[in-house]
Amino acid sequence: MRAVVIHAPKDLRIEEREAGAPGPGEVLVRLAAGGVCGSDLHYYNHGGFGAVRLKEPMILGHEVSGHVEALGEGVEGLAPGDLVAISPSRPCGRCRYCAEGLRNHCLNMRFYGSAMPFPHIQGAFREMLVADASQCVKAEGLAPGVAAMAEPLSVCLHAARRAGELLGRKVLVTGCGPIGALCILAARRAGAAEIVVTDLSAAALAHGLRAGADRAVNVAEEPEALAPYAADKGYFDVLFECTGAPQALAAGIAALRPRGVIVQVGLGGDMNVPLQALTAKELDLRGAFRFHEEFPVAVRLMQAGLIDPAPLITHTMPLDEAEEAFLAASDRSRAMKTQIAFA
Ligand code: NAD
Ligand code: ZN
Repeated sequence: MRAVVIHAPKDLRIEEREAGAPGPGEVLVRLAAGGVCGSDLHYYNHGGFGAVRLKEPMILGHEVSGHVEALGEGVEGLAPGDLVAISPSRPCGRCRYCAEGLRNHCLNMRFYGSAMPFPHIQGAFREMLVADASQCVKAEGLAPGVAAMAEPLSVCLHAARRAGELLGRKVLVTGCGPIGALCILAARRAGAAEIVVTDLSAAALAHGLRAGADRAVNVAEEPEALAPYAADKGYFDVLFECTGAPQALAAGIAALRPRGVIVQVGLGGDMNVPLQALTAKELDLRGAFRFHEEFPVAVRLMQAGLIDPAPLITHTMPLDEAEEAFLAASDRSRAMKTQIAFA
């Protein structure tokens, strides 16, 4: 079977790998769809991010869905042919944070397609994948590409939980890539009364409006457009920072009202924080990192039609054209979410 392997920046290869066989409690899945994420792009364009560097070839990918091909011993509740969304979150279940229920902070996390540990954790862009049955959530009724959106949606559901109460709140989302757009969908579902989104790209902002934002602000064309929201100590209750850019964080902080909440989702290396404003306005700065128990919730919300990420999937390319998919995904003016079709 074939897999999408990164060797070095811009050196992406399609290589043969062993499919493997499902052991007890495991499932062999024939992959259907795989979304290209910002972190995959970091490995492709730069060979890593921050201090994380590729030290050996690694299969990319962690936003995937597929059809069950075979069941290992003792697996119940799944049958060959079932469409499943596969969670890339693989905590150990035994460390102190797993015991506390903070599974996204597992000390032995084996998140697919990550060069953080060495040997690297191989990813899921492969025609056949052996996964734990507990990672597989039945996704009947969804298109395979939509099922694969459960992963980035889970990131945003987790971010919404970190925000706390959203009912009736005024929300600012900085950055309208797939994560910002899914934060709009998650915040609206949680009862946000007003949502404003910013980006540098008109194409991205059009997706933000379609996802349900009340107003889209192009900060490249109108750099001062958020300034009125800073009057009288600010306007928004919650900021979802989804760029990782210090300028976006600073503009968002200025527009937050006293006791507002910042949920920092974007990963931007070391960002400068206007700390004085945090103190003076008594703002809460909260990180949001990955997810765990939100994954089946994401699948259920999509199945019930309560959150529909389908319009965000702009490009689907066959496995043979994986590199083209990475190039398309790197260009925000062309693509929102780009996926690889494995079958
Ligand atoms: P993306 O790069 O597709 O989107 C970022 C968007 O921000 C782009 O559309 C860009 O035009 C816009 N932007 C850049 N600078 C801006 C500025 N100053 N003001 C307004 N908009 C600006 O990335 P994505 O896939 O949507 O992910 C967003 C961020 O979330 C990334 O930093 C990613 O690494 C991070 N992320 C975090 C987690 C987590 O668990 N915390 C999970 C997934 C992704
Ligand atoms: Zn653990």
